[in-house]
Amino acid sequence: MITVESAVEIILKEIKPLELESVDALSALGRVLGKDIRATRPNPPWDNSAMDGYALKSADIEKASKDLPVKLKVIYDLPAGQVPKGLVGDGEAVRIMTGAPVPVGADAVVMVEKTERGPDGFVLIKEGARRGENVRRSGEDFKKGDIVIPAGSVVRPAEVSMLATVGAPFVLVHKRPRVAVLSTGDELVDINEVPGLGKISNSNGYALSALATDSGAVPINLGIARDTKESLREKLSVAMTCDAIISSGGVSVGDYDFVKDVLKELGSEMIFWKVAMKPGKPLAFGIIGGKPAFGLPGNPISSMVAFEQFVRPALLKMSGRKKIFGALINATLTKDIKIKPGRMNFIRAEVRIDSTGVIATPLEGQGSGVISTMVRANSFVVVPKDSDGFKAGEIVKVQPFDPSVFTKDTPGY
Ligand code: AMP
Ligand code: MG
Repeated sequence: MITVESAVEIILKEIKPLELESVDALSALGRVLGKDIRATRPNPPWDNSAMDGYALKSADIEKASKDLPVKLKVIYDLPAGQVPKGLVGDGEAVRIMTGAPVPVGADAVVMVEKTERGPDGFVLIKEGARRGENVRRSGEDFKKGDIVIPAGSVVRPAEVSMLATVGAPFVLVHKRPRVAVLSTGDELVDINEVPGLGKISNSNGYALSALATDSGAVPINLGIARDTKESLREKLSVAMTCDAIISSGGVSVGDYDFVKDVLKELGSEMIFWKVAMKPGKPLAFGIIGGKPAFGLPGNPISSMVAFEQFVRPALLKMSGRKKIFGALINATLTKDIKIKPGRMNFIRAEVRIDSTGVIATPLEGQGSGVISTMVRANSFVVVPKDSDGFKAGEIVKVQPFDPSVFTKDTPGY
């Protein structure tokens, strides 16, 4: 048996980021940029007003106050989107709106609240202004030629804003991994069938497809392979056209567990198949035709836990991400955890954050087929390989797998 840490290391060594493709700025959300984004123009493009008010010469109003306002001649109005109609001279002002270019000659804007407009085309300025006050300087955000988003960045709404600002309607991002999802087992029926005696629904095919989508990949659900080498061979050869393959079931030591054999037969170099973890011990990993193949265990929770530990980081790396592991968080345990040492345990838990800190409650029902516990859980408590557990009140490491950890209850909802 190898450790979870070395399994992750071996897998990631084999994974390369996928090639680039061009997508429009909005479709880039959640994707990873393959090339630096450089500004082809400065932002702001020209000095502009940060306020609705009057653009003027600061020297003209040095001594302005409520009691001794300075009277300036308003030479024109300048709404956002329009071009200044001329210079601002001594004793003059332009009525300017937020975002309009500051006319040449003016070096400050006094907000409208500090002024009083006369009926005669003049304005009273009741407060002085520093040079540059309420003026957003050209290039103060970024200059032409600056790298405004480095390659390798994940595109979030802020990056979309930047793409629009610099005028980048299309960008190069890493391709999304297309992931073949294959379920194995003579006992499996599809979601719309009522399972007869001895049969169960193929939950893994759906769970793993959902997890792949959740990791930013595109799942190709290949359905169910039967427990024969022929059926596995047929499905796996289709799977080989994808960027990665995930199968579930058929990797333990049962008489019908042929996944390892067929992967080998198809030219996969099998890298390992037992990891010191619980749930999820039997695990095959290999490379077929340059594509990573993950033979995950059949038990529903085992396959989901194995996905989180091995497949998600691999898919994130393929997607070009640099940060592929979630941080472990310290949490205070509310109940004892007792386990047999020797394997790293992932205990389904409900983690919440309250005024006292982060609290982890391990859930009842840790069997590897107990899906209802997974439904209630939002995190795993990670118990190190050689630990026999923890006592209530101890600080443990938790791995959140669901952003609900970071939400709070809203009274009345
Ligand atoms: P296996 O590793 O194939 O022996 O499967 C281990 C356990 O997981 C058995 O109880 C299987 O019935 C169950 N199992 C395997 N594949 C699936 C699946 N796709 N959906 C739900 N349960 C499964
Ligand atoms: Mg099976």
